[in-house]
Amino acid sequence: MPPQNDAALGGGFFRNRFTRKNSTSSLIIDDTPATSTESVAAAEATVAATAAAAAGGKTYTWEEVAEHNTEKSLWVTVRGKVYDISSWVNNHPGGKEILLLAAGRDITYAFDSYHPFTEKPTQVLGKFEIGTVSSHEFPQYKPDTRGFYKTLCTRVGDYFKQEKLNPKDPFPGIWRMLLVAMVAVASFMVCNGWVGLEGGVLAGWGARFVAAVVFGVCQALPLLHVMHDSSHLAFGNTERWWQMGGRLAMDFFAGANMTSWHNQHVIGHHIYTNVFMADPALPDKSAGDPRRLVKKQAWEGMYKWQHLYLPPLYGILGIKFRVQDVMETYGSGSNGPVRVNPLSPWQWGEMIFTKLFWFGWRVVFPLMSASFRTSMATFWPLFFVSEFMTGYFLAFNFQVSHVSSECDYPLGEAPREEAVEGSAGGKEGIKDEWAVSQVKSSVDYAHNNALTTFLCGALNYQVTHHLFPTVSQYHYPKIAPIIQEVCKEFNVDYKVLPDFVTAFHAHIAHLKALGERGEAAEVHMG
Ligand SMILES: [Zn+2]
Repeated sequence: MPPQNDAALGGGFFRNRFTRKNSTSSLIIDDTPATSTESVAAAEATVAATAAAAAGGKTYTWEEVAEHNTEKSLWVTVRGKVYDISSWVNNHPGGKEILLLAAGRDITYAFDSYHPFTEKPTQVLGKFEIGTVSSHEFPQYKPDTRGFYKTLCTRVGDYFKQEKLNPKDPFPGIWRMLLVAMVAVASFMVCNGWVGLEGGVLAGWGARFVAAVVFGVCQALPLLHVMHDSSHLAFGNTERWWQMGGRLAMDFFAGANMTSWHNQHVIGHHIYTNVFMADPALPDKSAGDPRRLVKKQAWEGMYKWQHLYLPPLYGILGIKFRVQDVMETYGSGSNGPVRVNPLSPWQWGEMIFTKLFWFGWRVVFPLMSASFRTSMATFWPLFFVSEFMTGYFLAFNFQVSHVSSECDYPLGEAPREEAVEGSAGGKEGIKDEWAVSQVKSSVDYAHNNALTTFLCGALNYQVTHHLFPTVSQYHYPKIAPIIQEVCKEFNVDYKVLPDFVTAFHAHIAHLKALGERGEAAEVHMG
């Protein structure tokens, strides 16, 4: 019997039932009796109902909250309380787009990490409380009773106050991207055989190949800099900056789609980092994925070679992004386990227009314009060189920070018993607080190496990025030591590897280990 996976279809994490197989080549995991889940859910509902009655409000299920996911009726859940913020959507200082993404969801962890330096949003939100929620779509982190994240926010906030710095200053990004844009234009012209270069050394095959590689890097860099910061509201202080910066880099220049990235990365990956069946960056099924990244996935013989066959496949990441946004976000209305809220005609129009715009300047223009000497036979091979370069550049950056022997995989590698007895007060609990889990599921590398930091968009400070996504990446090198200090005080293990090569080895080591550990994971299941 194949494992059932209704979470991927938005049917709810906790209703998943993976069947246990006797075969030695497969393992499976969460076989907690249904009655246990039901009793936990019933107990939760009773507690929530009592609290709601005491507060004079109503109790809702997560599915009922999820129905209010439009501008007309916009509900959110924060720390078990439900808020109807429909009347306030246009007053949100952070703009409407992010609220429409948050609509109908439990946004506890996003709410905290997107308002790290002020208490005001909590006071404003309080006015819109309408009740409590009795169930959850995704697993809950342990409450931060030790005040770890609050301490981090106070210390990092003090740094910005003392230094009188704008955490979202867009200008360091703008200067860098102007430089990248110039190199991008030059490499585009060389790669596509601009007539002005005819007869010179830059018109040769070697030069055109190198230019294709350079263009591939130039295509990735704005995504790692301006686009990434914009998607986290960290590029400038207003929604106009984020929309403009993000869409210019992602939609117009790279032919991908910002709305899709918002759902996959901001709503999914950043909230449930490395949480199995909740983080869209991980496989969203227990069997049948070409990658085995967590022990709870069924082991198959082919995984023995995943450390060899996966890295070459990373080259198609850029192409995959552009297909996935249409097929998943716009087509099936989901990004892995993340439900996509209703998309407006404007979002549809923007997606179609920017895809055509990108295809026009990237493919039609060099092939049709008299300014370029290129044919189908020369254009396409060089096009794919650039595409693969972008794919490798992005994928290796993303992979080494989370898919690593140094990282935790909440609910993905713990034996079932640990999850059942988890300290979060229920079988679905993640054993750590949200902020602690961010530290444990990420790994930093090459601190204080300015070139690495530039090339990877400061993602070598991955822990800082996950704890303070709304802070511009150009501040990370300065605030990482503050975070390390707080981690030390709270006894949280902040991992930093010396350089990219070591981080890359840790990534390969993880792929290798998970490829070999089919039997070991099964031992847990007894
Ligand atoms: Zn991010």
